[in-house]
Amino acid sequence: MSEDPNRRSCIIVGAGISGLLAASTLQREGWNATVLDESRGVGGRMATRRLGEGNFDHGTQFFTVRGERFAGLVEGWLGAGVAAEWTRGFADADGQPYEDGHPRYRGAEGMTSIPKHIARGLDVRTGERVVRVDSSDDGWEVTCESGLRVAGNALVLTAPVPQGLDLVSSGSYRLPDRVRRLLEAVSYDPCLALMVLLDGPTGLPEPGGIQIKGEPLDWIGDNGRKGISEVPAVTVHAGPEWSRSHFEDDEKEVIDSMISLAGDRLGTDLASTVIATSLTRWRYSWVTNPHPEPYLVTSDDPPLLFCGDAFGQPKVEGAALSGLAAADHLMGRDTG
Ligand SMILES: Cc1cc2nc3c(=O)[nH]c(=O)nc-3n(C[C@H](O)[C@H](O)[C@H](O)COP(=O)(O)OP(=O)(O)OC[C@H]3O[C@@H](n4cnc5c(N)ncnc54)[C@H](O)[C@@H]3O)c2cc1C
Repeated sequence: MSEDPNRRSCIIVGAGISGLLAASTLQREGWNATVLDESRGVGGRMATRRLGEGNFDHGTQFFTVRGERFAGLVEGWLGAGVAAEWTRGFADADGQPYEDGHPRYRGAEGMTSIPKHIARGLDVRTGERVVRVDSSDDGWEVTCESGLRVAGNALVLTAPVPQGLDLVSSGSYRLPDRVRRLLEAVSYDPCLALMVLLDGPTGLPEPGGIQIKGEPLDWIGDNGRKGISEVPAVTVHAGPEWSRSHFEDDEKEVIDSMISLAGDRLGTDLASTVIATSLTRWRYSWVTNPHPEPYLVTSDDPPLLFCGDAFGQPKVEGAALSGLAAADHLMGRDTG
């Protein structure tokens, strides 16, 4: 089958929420969009995993809606049954209920329900780590570790910015110094995230999440109360300072410390009911110094854009809007 020469094509690195929404917008407008992601599944930091019988969100825990454009998307996800409202507020650091009236949403079967839904019908290649980017007269070519090469008229990079910067420097293209400096100003906090499968109650107060927003722990969530796990399953996130100081520490030491800290916070002997644990070391979790615009064009001809949660608002809503704005730019409808 021969390709229509008038169809524009775009390579998108990253199948997180920003990359998938950029791809679906472009595809709807007749573009050929190819999404490449190094992970086994889609979703990026909207990550859900199984451990034994438990189902855990171990990256993003929930998301909020502020603006109209994102509200429209979330309406669609609610209608499709892939998102649900979890609560209108979590317990505070003292375990006291706190409601502010703003809905907090979750994926129906975990956060990845949403990216999986968006990815349906898109050309998404998972398990493909992009290792080299080259520019050519009529576009871009990327090379994956597997040897796969993909060419396109435009390139959108949604990987966390330090990874995107490494990629863009890997081949024949030279990033302008001014743009490099803007990108190098973006920084991230790390997060040590622990999944704990239990054979007893989690001890979390209603509605199954404690938003501590601090140190040494930042968050404790009950995936059963959240409605995504059939068995008691707790996610614990360490705060940015604690995560930074212990990021390279021995796995068992980190796990034991986090279980003990969570038990102290909940006033229960959590350690005595643990069946299994799994630790994720998120090197790039929350963006601490985002670029103020919703995307950054580093080359107009051929087009190369950086987007994702580092552009605009550093959260799920911001990442989603950034992907949409990058696609709008490529289609000549600048909404950014
Ligand atoms: C622990 C944690 C808790 C969080 N909690 C919340 C929360 O409660 N609420 C909220 O709104 N936000 C939260 N966030 C932030 C939220 O997850 C992100 O803002 C959002 O998911 C980012 O989406 P994205 O598409 O910009 O990037 P990502 O989801 O990071 O997607 C980028 C993708 O690029 C891929 N990639 C990277 N390099 C390559 C390569 N070389 N080749 C191929 N693929 C590559 C990665 O595998 C990844 O899938 C949290 C994040 C973390 C880590």
